[in-house]
Amino acid sequence: MPPALAPAAAPAAPAAAPVPGRASAGYRAFSTSWFVLIHIVPFVALAWVGVSVAAVVLAFLMYVLRMLAVTTGYHRLFSHRSYETSRAYAFLVAAAACTAIQKGPLWWASVHRLHHKASDTPEDAHSPVQRGFWWAHMGWICSPAHSTTEWSRVQDWAKFPEIVWLDRWHFVPPILLGAVIFFGGGALAAAFPGLHTSGAQLLVWGMGVSTVVLYHGTWCVNSVLHVWGSKRFKTGDESRNNRFVAWITMGEGWHNNHHRYQASERQGFYPGEIDLGHVFLSMLAKLGIVRRLKVPPESVLEEGRRAL
Ligand SMILES: [Zn+2]
Ligand SMILES: [Zn+2]
Repeated sequence: MPPALAPAAAPAAPAAAPVPGRASAGYRAFSTSWFVLIHIVPFVALAWVGVSVAAVVLAFLMYVLRMLAVTTGYHRLFSHRSYETSRAYAFLVAAAACTAIQKGPLWWASVHRLHHKASDTPEDAHSPVQRGFWWAHMGWICSPAHSTTEWSRVQDWAKFPEIVWLDRWHFVPPILLGAVIFFGGGALAAAFPGLHTSGAQLLVWGMGVSTVVLYHGTWCVNSVLHVWGSKRFKTGDESRNNRFVAWITMGEGWHNNHHRYQASERQGFYPGEIDLGHVFLSMLAKLGIVRRLKVPPESVLEEGRRAL
């Protein structure tokens, strides 16, 4: 049985730690091109592929499932180790989050750990306080400054070769998923012509439109949640709680709570703070797939109650 992934395992240097990469000279051109194309191509393609109920349902499902993978996988597991699970499930949720096309789990975690270490300071990769709302929302992604995985910040994960492999080959899961949707969708359309769909239509909606909306949902955490919302805790940064963003990000909207006690698996700390990522992980805990979900200490909860 593979060893469990403890939530607070001491960082250990990997036997052959990958060398921190240098920002590629072509990174800015590549990422900017991808960024522009993913915002244009799916919407232009809609004129050819059209729309159907099946396509819209698929786009919605792909949004929900991939957002769950990003918040419970990339964020709550890989960035914060806020619960324990098996290596098999860690790999599975990381592969699922890769299909959101937000690079690999260790790149994502290394940038996010920097965000908590240097929130809203000049070192923060995406602070709206430092460089404005649109930079924090999406401008920083096209910058070569944080284009490679900073291994010194994710050494606790670098000892798992399957995760390191996935971090390097992060584009494989979305390509495989796109192929499944295209060819599976084609077979579905042939079997059920009444659906008025096609493989190309399901691909455009399921991996194109859905991914763009998913991008902006995720990016709201870096932009909106450091600008608009309420501040319950004095965290020394501009993190906010925002109910609307909590809905569209499956719980990430309780960002001021999260900045106050980032080790907690749940981000909604109080009754009424709906956190769908926490609901999902609680279900997995009942099934024995995850365990030891970390909770905020009573002293932190009391601190928040006094601030209300
Ligand atoms: Zn933040
Ligand atoms: Zn975090």
